[in-house]
Amino acid sequence: MENSADLQNHLTNKLLQQGALAVGYTKIRQQEPVMVIGFPFSDQWILNHPFYITKRFEEEVWTSWKLLRDIAQVLRSEGYSADIKTPLSLFGDFRPLAIAAGLGNWGKNGLVTNPNYGSKLLFAAIFTNAPLQGSVAENLGLINESCDNCSLCIDACPAKAFQDNRFHKIRCFPKALRGCSECLQVCRGRVQLH
Ligand code: SF4
Ligand code: SF4
Repeated sequence: MENSADLQNHLTNKLLQQGALAVGYTKIRQQEPVMVIGFPFSDQWILNHPFYITKRFEEEVWTSWKLLRDIAQVLRSEGYSADIKTPLSLFGDFRPLAIAAGLGNWGKNGLVTNPNYGSKLLFAAIFTNAPLQGSVAENLGLINESCDNCSLCIDACPAKAFQDNRFHKIRCFPKALRGCSECLQVCRGRVQLH
């Protein structure tokens, strides 16, 4: 690649053309670049069929892993390091990274809410030493406003887990164990602004 901007554009385009829905860049420890990639979490998955959702989830993770592996190969062929973290990674919670990378904001449901995809994104990441620039979210206004005038997730919760401006884990847990994800399913991002 001619320069790091070309490399960054190439990586972003490749990801978006091959199944990722959103790509953003940020840094940890103020210097180590991280690519954050949002893959689809489909509301077509039938949540009260655990075997089906597990199978679909595995398929999605496998598809995303192959794409992340290709991106890592591109980075390594350019002489950089690349450390892949899939949506199932033990590394843990990618929500703060996704928000720092401009892919959404904290939703009232406690998940990342994206203007285009609501809360239906599965996040993965690639840590690298390539000189990639942090993203400036193009739709920052929409990102910041996505929960304004909306309480669909709160209203949809069958356990009233969001009562009194706090999240009652103990109310959610038994429902979530039985496959409840109403607070995720109803979130549609900016569609709800209209
Ligand atoms: S359903 Fe509405 S209030 Fe809840 S996270 Fe999504 S946009 Fe925000
Ligand atoms: S998973 Fe279900 S019970 Fe738990 S907060 Fe979301 S809607 Fe409420």
